[in-house]
Amino acid sequence: MTPRDPYLSLVSEFMLQQTQVARVLEKWPGFVGRFPTLRSLAAARERDVVAAWSGMGYYRRARNLHGAAREIVGRFGGRVPEDVDSLRSLPGVGPYTAGAMASMVFGKAEPIVDGNIARVLLRLEGKSLEQAEGVRWAWGRAVGLVQSSRAARHGGSTPQQSSRRRVRKVSAGVLNEGLMELGAVVCTPRSPRCGACPVRGLCLARRRGLQDVIPRPKVRPVRSDLFCASVVVEDGLGRVLVEPRSEIGLWAGMWQAPTLERKDRAARRGEIASWIGAEGLTLKGAFEHGTTHRRVRFEVWSGRMNEGAARPGATFCTRAAIARLAISNPQRRILLGG
Ligand code: SF4
Repeated sequence: MTPRDPYLSLVSEFMLQQTQVARVLEKWPGFVGRFPTLRSLAAARERDVVAAWSGMGYYRRARNLHGAAREIVGRFGGRVPEDVDSLRSLPGVGPYTAGAMASMVFGKAEPIVDGNIARVLLRLEGKSLEQAEGVRWAWGRAVGLVQSSRAARHGGSTPQQSSRRRVRKVSAGVLNEGLMELGAVVCTPRSPRCGACPVRGLCLARRRGLQDVIPRPKVRPVRSDLFCASVVVEDGLGRVLVEPRSEIGLWAGMWQAPTLERKDRAARRGEIASWIGAEGLTLKGAFEHGTTHRRVRFEVWSGRMNEGAARPGATFCTRAAIARLAISNPQRRILLGG
């Protein structure tokens, strides 16, 4: 395996936690161009890191990555730690990211389980388990695989053991990558390509015709509704009023057009006008945005601020300046039309 840069690997692991590869590839040059080294990321302001993350969603990851960079500088002398326990002590680093870094970047004998690996292992062993139980089981199985791969690499001196060693002589990193690749390309969630699968002879799901029902489908969480009325207010210079969101909850700390939120229904024009202190409110359009837990219905209004009305924390910005702020995708659409 080609040696990997630990810092860049850490950034890509964070990005890939909840964003698709195509989107990450799009955003990658901008982010690593802005923060090419771990120290440059650690020295940056959090709001600049979140702004560079814009468009990838799940902004807590940006804050955690920034926090992790600072801790690596503060506690580990600027070198990404190699062992799973130290990696897991960093913000935002769970068992998967720690295992991926340890095995694929530092060559440690550590297992990982993601959705692809869990599916491959469950099918290979014909285990029809519920989602959470399946992942727990897969972690146990992955530990066993890494240990037996390690034993095969280091132990055994009989011809039989040597021959087994030749077959199994792979590092945990290669094993992990192989399983992930198998799940992504061959053992796909729907219509796995069993005829082309290199381990089809070992697969119990295939032998029993269960590959389409393992793993058991996920029970999707019910998404709650949120109604947002966003008001685009321009001043005489064409600048637009923006304000930061609360530091907790959905899109925490990100910038937005003043937005009135309701859980049960869309806010009415009169309510919005008195809430923001604006007049001449005109409905410009509406759209829906889905997050993991919510269906957010946006109404976009335009209006003028009343004489003397002020919103604490709000400020008028040019659209060019707004493009450099940390804003969510729906607010980007509202404020910049993109
Ligand atoms: Fe997956 Fe089919 Fe290969 Fe089994 S034989 S591991 S179900 S692709």
